[in-house]
This record gives sequence, C-alpha cells and structure tokens, in this order.
Amino acid sequence: MILLAIQQADYGDLLLEFINSFRDNKGKNTYINQINEIIAYRKKSLVINFADLFNFNEQLATQIINNPKETLSILENKIYEYIIEKDPTYQEEIKKIHIRITNVPRTVELRKIRTNYANKLISIEGILVKSTPVKQRLSKAIFRHLNPDCMQDFVWPPDEEFDEILEVPSTCPVCGKAGQFKLIEDKSEFVDWQKAVIQERPEEIPPGQIPRQLEIVFEDDLVDSARPGDRVKVVGVLEIKKDSQIRRGSKSIFDFYLKVNSIEISQKVLDEVKISEDDEKKIRELSRDPWIREKIISSIAPSIYGHWEIKEAIALSLFGGVPKTMPDGTRIRGDIHVLIIGDPGTAKSQILQFAARVAPRAVYTTGKGSTAAGLTATVTRDKNSGDYYLEAGALVLADGGIAVIDEIDKMRDEDRVAIHEAMEQQTVSIAKAGIVAKLNARATVIAAGNPKLGRYIAERGLSENINLPPTILSRFDLIFILVDKPGTEDELLASHILDAHAGKGKENEIIDTDLLKKYIAYARKNIATKLTDEAKSLLQDFFVEMRKKSSESPDSPIIITPRQLEALIRLSEAYARMALRSEVTREDAERAINIMRIFLENVGLDVESGKIDIDTIMTGKPKSAREKMTRILEIIDTISGSNECARVKDIIKEAEGLGIDKQSVEKLISDMRKQGLIYESRPECYRKV
Ligand code: ADP
Ligand code: ZN
Ligand code: MG
Repeated sequence: MILLAIQQADYGDLLLEFINSFRDNKGKNTYINQINEIIAYRKKSLVINFADLFNFNEQLATQIINNPKETLSILENKIYEYIIEKDPTYQEEIKKIHIRITNVPRTVELRKIRTNYANKLISIEGILVKSTPVKQRLSKAIFRHLNPDCMQDFVWPPDEEFDEILEVPSTCPVCGKAGQFKLIEDKSEFVDWQKAVIQERPEEIPPGQIPRQLEIVFEDDLVDSARPGDRVKVVGVLEIKKDSQIRRGSKSIFDFYLKVNSIEISQKVLDEVKISEDDEKKIRELSRDPWIREKIISSIAPSIYGHWEIKEAIALSLFGGVPKTMPDGTRIRGDIHVLIIGDPGTAKSQILQFAARVAPRAVYTTGKGSTAAGLTATVTRDKNSGDYYLEAGALVLADGGIAVIDEIDKMRDEDRVAIHEAMEQQTVSIAKAGIVAKLNARATVIAAGNPKLGRYIAERGLSENINLPPTILSRFDLIFILVDKPGTEDELLASHILDAHAGKGKENEIIDTDLLKKYIAYARKNIATKLTDEAKSLLQDFFVEMRKKSSESPDSPIIITPRQLEALIRLSEAYARMALRSEVTREDAERAINIMRIFLENVGLDVESGKIDIDTIMTGKPKSAREKMTRILEIIDTISGSNECARVKDIIKEAEGLGIDKQSVEKLISDMRKQGLIYESRPECYRKV
C-alpha cells in the first residue's frame, strides 16, 4: 500500500517531466504550448497523445489505461497545481482541469464490450446516433439543515467526488441531529452534462444483425462536441451502471456506459475501405481499359438481366459528381439522386441491395424507416429515463455516403416534409421539444418505389403513378420506370435467371464486388473533376436549346429548369470519375445528355419535338401534346360509352375543365383522326376506333 502511494506520488512528477522535456519530430514542445494556451484562453483540458506518453514512460502510460480514474485524478491535480503556480488567477475562473488522452491503442469493437474492460480506458469507434440537450449535473452539493436550531450549510457527500446518484444525508454532519435537508443550488456547483448513444457503423454490422449501441456521457468542455450522424472515435472509461438506474425488464438499457475522456470526429470520408498498394495497381490498370465504364455498368447487379440504363444510373450515382461551394457560401450538391419506379417483381429491391453492398459507405432502409428516426431525424423520448434525444435518421447516418431507400413511397409524413431540405441543401433541421439543431445529410439517395395503382400506367403522368409529391420527384437527377411487359425477351430473361441460379455467369467480363467497391471508394476519394471548355459549351448549348424550344411552343411549358443543368454537370463529372479522369470531356457531356434524354423519354416525353416538360413529368398536368391526346381519348371514350358518340362541343367542354383550350382540342381531334385513333361516326361526333 505504502509502496503504491509513493509510486502514485511519482506519477505527477513524471508527468511534469514529460511535459517539460517533450519534443516532437520538429523539435517543438507542443505540450508547453498547450499549457500556455490553457492559461491564456482559460481552457479546461490538456490533450495528451498516448503514444507520446508511452514513449516517455511505459509504466505511467499503462497505468492510465488500467487504472484511469485514480491515475488521471492524480495527474489532473498535479497539472492544476502547476498551472496556478504559473498563473494564480486561473483558479478564480477554472476549478478543475482535465487530461484528455487520444490515440489510445486499445480499440474495442462495440459488440465485443465485456466486463473485463470495466473501469479501464478504452477506445471505441462508431457513429453517434442520438444525443440529449446539454443538462446540468450536480458536481458539488451544498445542503442546509432546516432545523431552526442549526440552519448550517455543509458539503455532501463530504469527499466531494460522487456519481450521478445523490443521496440525502440521514443526519446533519454539523450538529449530528436528524431532520430535513435542502439543497442550496446557489452555493452548489454544476457541470455541463450530456448523454449520447453511439452505434456500430453500418459497414461493420454483420449481415442480418441489429446494430449494437452504447450509451456515452460527455461532461464539461466536451458537451456538444459531436452531433448525431458524426462518425467518432471516443476514448473513455467503461463504467457499469448503478443498479438503481436500471429498470427491470427493459431491453433498451445497457449494462455499460462510457464516460468520455476524449473524442475525435472522423473527417476523412471513405477511409473505411482499405485499399492496398496492390489494389491501387489493379484499379489503375482497370481504369485504362477503354471500355471501363461499360465494364462497371455490367458489374452492377450482374445476376439481374437487362435494365442497362438503370444499372448505368446506379453506377453514376455511386461515383457521384463533385460538390461545390459558391463564393457566397451556397453549397451545390455533387450527389446524384436516382429513383426507380416499377411494377412489382421487376428486381428493384435486388438492384438496390446490390447498390448498398457495393457502396463504400451505405445505409439501407425502407421508406418506413428501420428506426424511430426514419429517413431524416426526430426527437424521441427514452421510456426509462424520460430523456429527450435528438436522433439521426437514415440520410443523416449516411452523411458522406449513400442512402439506399426501398419503398420510398411509403415514407412517413414528417419525412415527406424534411426530405426536401435533406435532398437539396443536404441538411436536416429540427426544432421540437426544446431541441433545435441542424444536422448534415450530405448523402446520395438511391431509391425505389412501387406504383400507386399496383402497376405503372404509361398514359398517366409520373406523379399520378407514384405516391410522392412533384416537389420530391423534382429533386431526383434521374428517374427510371420499370414496366413488366411479357414478350420477346422472356426467353433470354429466363435463361439468364436459370444460368445465374446454376452458378454460371460471365465472370471474366465483370469486376467482382469487392474490387468494384474499392474502385468506387478510390474514385470518390481521389478524383476531383474539372469541366473542359468543350464539355461546358456542349451542356450550355443543350440547355439553351431546350429552353428555347419551350418558349416557342404555344402554351409555353417550362421545359427544363436549372436543376437539370446542374444534374447534367454532375452526371458528366461522374462519367469522368468512372474512368478515373479529372478532366470532364466533351464525350462525358454527350453521355450525360444522352442518359438525361433516356430518362425524359422514359417518363413519357418527346425530346425531338421539344416537348420536354419537366412540369408535366412531375405534376401530371397535361401540357405536352401526347399527354393531352390521351386525355381527349379518355374523354371521347367516356362520353361515347353513355351516348352513341362524343360531340365535339362536349369534348371541348370536358377538356377545358382539364385546362386544355378549344384550339388545341380541335387540332388534336383532327390529328387523331388522321392517325386513325378515332373516327367520325356522325358529323361532328366521334368514337374511338
Ligand atoms: P421488386 O422489388 O421490384 O418487387 P424483387 O427485387 O423483389 O422485385 O425481385 C423479385 C425476384 O425476381 C427476385 O428474386 C429477382 O431476382 C427476380 N427478377 C426479376 N427481374 C429479374 C431480371 N430482370 N433478371 C433476373 N432476375 C429477376
Ligand atoms: Zn444541523
Ligand atoms: Mg421490392
């Protein structure tokens, strides 16, 4: 015991020696600099890199890991004394200094936390999923004995150090009598306190398993140092919760919590995918293949037959464009959002699951959301403690990566409102139950949805086919429709599926998933793109031309909007990135225009005639000729169902109700007659053929 006491006393001196003698590889003493800053700016923490201390004295460093509470308390007292010796006025403002240890080598996986780590200093990596607002924890309680004979104040518990549970004394330490005691808040001391929950990162969760979580506690200058959605590395002391805090039968309460000592937020996106030198060589070599882009597209969900343009869109989305910050601070996303709407059983879910597997950082969820936080964020209340938490949803958790959302049409009403901001500004703002916050949601959305009426009806506008408002639809860069039409390709589809099931594939033509994932991570991390003048002028011409066509057409629909121009830029950049090229060429721009055309035609628009009308696609209001024609056909059909034929007068009246003017109706009737779609059964009276 005595021996230990002497040793412990030495720890303080050793630490001072370390601080004074330390030199980094540039010969600087960063710890003395820190001490000076602590004094100058009244900071509360000294941050020590574990490796530095370990190099100086292994025993001291090991002691911090194995017996952190006691050791750190000795060291903190010593540093505090050292600081007030240098500047006595420091103690008037700051009562306690913290030693924060970073770079602790003992990193424990969340799912491997066991009792043997209790009361040890460990490091945990994860994603912060929710946090409470900052509260005040009583750190030094002053009680008053309410007996009129006494009325004395005293500190309780006497040793000042206590955990979260505060027990009222049974007898007065001043007069020794029992009685009533009152906490004197003005004289007591409080420390900022915040609880949060970290969870395993999505890519670490074994397939089919529910992510593990751990409660963590921040105090003093650490509160609010991380937000939900942040990927963090926390160092802290693993503590076991007091029994009284655990209500029996509750599943959401954990046996452990981590009292945080230091926290680092990982800024480096895509570091999770490890790329060796060997991998890099393979990636570089692949990129030199002139058909690399076709090869990548074929490697997307190879077991799914056909759907080339959808696979192409998914590939573009996985590579993404480059985000830009304008001089005025406005941020333009680089993420390419893709939506697939399709009949049931057309492999939508399969394609999405593949996308989530191959994306370097992805969160897979359904529109309903797999947690209470849904797609964006929410404020939840812990049933056991009653605490309010700000909880991150899928798009926030996917920050820096890809949010794969199946059955997006089933999303909840709160998300319907919040997703607009999430998809364009890439933030999620929330103000609820006293919590006001803005979280980052810089994620690409790859989503799929089912048609509102069970099957996709080509004659109707997009928004009439899916249960999503036009405002959300317009935030997707590319939308594709998968219609299940039995026909000539069935034989090929069948043999493709049968071959895949028999384990036969075109292995040599496709890049395996693991390498593809590395390729994508490598491209996203290393390739920043720049538009060449040629590419720029091509995109500009296309945009101007399309806008002009719209202003020439009689009822002047808004043809394409600046949103589509931004989308074209992103798509061109993604094509360049797929070939690991930083230069965006004319050919990339051509491809971008081409896939945009396919998208527009796919949703029912005639590009050649200039009748691309984004408004129509999204709102379903009949503006393009084709759309109007189907409406008039419907009208004729209905009227001639009850009468013998539909009189022009009646058709015009009905059509005007849909916003189609008389002139257009007359012209369309004559067009349709010429095309043999309708015939004049009596003068000025028509029937469908
Ligand atoms: P969805 O989500 O569109 O309703 P699924 O992804 O659940 O459809 O697909 C249903 C099943 O049909 C899956 O097993 C899928 O592999 C198969 N399937 C559908 N279309 C194709 C295709 N084009 N090629 C190969 N398999 C397909
Ligand atoms: Zn008393
Ligand atoms: Mg599905």
